[in-house]
Amino acid sequence: MSAPYGVQCRLCGCVPAADVSFHGHRGLVIMAVFRRLPGPFCQECGLAAFREMTAKTLIEGWWGIASFPIAPFIVLLNAVRRGRVANLPPPRPPARGPYRLPSDPGPPLLARPTALIGLAIPLAALILLCGVHAASS
Ligand SMILES: [Zn+2]
Repeated sequence: MSAPYGVQCRLCGCVPAADVSFHGHRGLVIMAVFRRLPGPFCQECGLAAFREMTAKTLIEGWWGIASFPIAPFIVLLNAVRRGRVANLPPPRPPARGPYRLPSDPGPPLLARPTALIGLAIPLAALILLCGVHAASS
């Protein structure tokens, strides 16, 4: 939705909005599922989308052979794009046309249990690998 009144948030219609999309990844042993949440987003809907997709990727992204290296890449990509919505001024109603209240961004990423557990998974795998290595040498 762009137009004479500037880019509007795809979810709530508020302005200003940044044309950015967030990605998600889920590993399923030998399969991998990629998800994409396209914008544009206002600041609040964008942060909500970033936190939702990134938290899910952190918990679901590790469970595949190819996925293990892909998940951190997706998380990094989202983290870089987060700045484009986080730096927007707070959303306000558009000059014209329908809109609704922006999404609630919810708790920050690192305050979410799924993200913290998700971050612990590669760490645990690494420790386990080192343990196995130490035990066998
Ligand atoms: Zn919005």
